[in-house]
Amino acid sequence: MATESPGQARAQYFRAVTDTVTETTGTGELLSDLRAWLSSNWDPDLTVGQWWERLGLAGWSAPTLPPNAYGKGMARADAVLVQQELSAFGALGAPAGLGLLLAAPTIATHGTQEQIDLYVRDIVTGRKAWCQLFSEPQAGSDLAGLQTRAVRDGDEWVVNGQKVWTSGGQYADLGMLLARTNPDVPKHQGISYFAFDMLQDGVDVRPLKEMTGHALFNEVFITDARVADAALIGGVNKGWAAANTTLANERAGLGSGGGNAAGGGLAQPGTVMGMLEKRVGDLVAPKANGGRARPVGGALGAVRGGATMLITLAKTRGVNTDAGIRQDLARLYTLSELGRFNGLRLKAVKEQGGDIPGMPNVSKLSMSQIVRLSRDLGLRISGPAGMLHAYEAEDKDALRHATGDPFAGSVTEMALFAQAPPIYGGTDQIQRNIIGERVLGLPKEPNNDRVTPFSELPKNA
Ligand SMILES: Cc1cc2nc3c(=O)[nH]c(=O)nc-3n(C[C@H](O)[C@H](O)[C@H](O)COP(=O)(O)OP(=O)(O)OC[C@H]3O[C@@H](n4cnc5c(N)ncnc54)[C@H](O)[C@@H]3O)c2cc1C
Repeated sequence: MATESPGQARAQYFRAVTDTVTETTGTGELLSDLRAWLSSNWDPDLTVGQWWERLGLAGWSAPTLPPNAYGKGMARADAVLVQQELSAFGALGAPAGLGLLLAAPTIATHGTQEQIDLYVRDIVTGRKAWCQLFSEPQAGSDLAGLQTRAVRDGDEWVVNGQKVWTSGGQYADLGMLLARTNPDVPKHQGISYFAFDMLQDGVDVRPLKEMTGHALFNEVFITDARVADAALIGGVNKGWAAANTTLANERAGLGSGGGNAAGGGLAQPGTVMGMLEKRVGDLVAPKANGGRARPVGGALGAVRGGATMLITLAKTRGVNTDAGIRQDLARLYTLSELGRFNGLRLKAVKEQGGDIPGMPNVSKLSMSQIVRLSRDLGLRISGPAGMLHAYEAEDKDALRHATGDPFAGSVTEMALFAQAPPIYGGTDQIQRNIIGERVLGLPKEPNNDRVTPFSELPKNA
């Protein structure tokens, strides 16, 4: 059995604890179409690259994208069903990661058809991996305060600056780069959005180690790097609108069980990870139990739904009769069900041409709540065993073997990582600000950022 990477373990856990948020019932026709397609197209002897080419070009990698961008125009809740059905069939799922979650929908919305055919095609077929070059040491929640500069040089731009918390930057072929292209206008109006080549001179990616022992994210130093004018998404100085599309997809995707900020499926896309030439059948478990198969990935990945997983853990540990634990398991289940109903409500409203403003923000806040409760409950259920941790991925199997506990280390790792989801994609406080200001119409905090040129705003050193 393959050893899971930290990204996979986290993605499975957070999918497990958030998947119930948008699981829907029905849509039988959609699933029977997918099953029929899988029956004639799934072939374990293909390479990962060949399989993703089939999946992506048939519209099943990113079914929420419009048909002109290699999708099927499906509701997000139905796309979660597609992911689940791919896994249940025993096929390798779509090329997970920030390309699929963020870059593809942004380019589909703001890019030209030429850019869609250049970039989105390579995302849905897993050929290129992406990272998100937004945050900087002085610009996180206040993203529009970013200072990385891009200066025009003929039909190219020269880029200098520093990014930080760049998830998956060490594996990315391309980055969604936000850079300041005009400092003499108010800060939101002088930003451009580029599809930026990460594998060029002038891009120095340095991993940052987290308390889990892994390095999910990086700092990225950019020195005289270059990007073509043709790689501008949405036009010069129009980057803020494109960035907002990326951020809205991040909130909605994370809130609906889209995985963690770096993706982390059973195989990673892109040229750097070297997965594209592997035999796809080697990455999924052999079919069992009447033709249904489970993805490889350990005990956590095998159990669907956060409450279900923790109920199993509570039974294994013999604490499922503890009244406090039972009550919190019921709370967790209730939160997940509320999220699922909200997903269904949004889908129904959208099908009638409407929208529920603020729902992505509510979903992300709800995901934070579920992650925190799962962390606390998991540690209570685990007891002292919750202190056991394998800092290296390869030690995980040894830890499970030594303790005889299939969950050993997993709950601990996720408890250590649980601080991250309420921060990435915009912190809980920022989600509440957005709901207050943009949805409820409450007054914004007074400032003159929207009228004063960026170059005249006070800045930290
Ligand atoms: C695991 C992880 C992965 C990430 N991956 C990426 C990535 O791939 N690419 C990328 O670009 N970024 C990434 N980030 C960065 C993330 O988007 C930022 O950390 C986040 O936006 C917060 O910014 P900051 O860390 O600078 O905190 P700050 O903005 O400095 O905030 C510090 C605190 O102040 C609060 N605060 C700030 N402003 C306000 C306000 N106006 N009102 C109320 N409270 C406020 C915040 O809520 C927070 O509690 C990642 C972060 C994490 C944790």
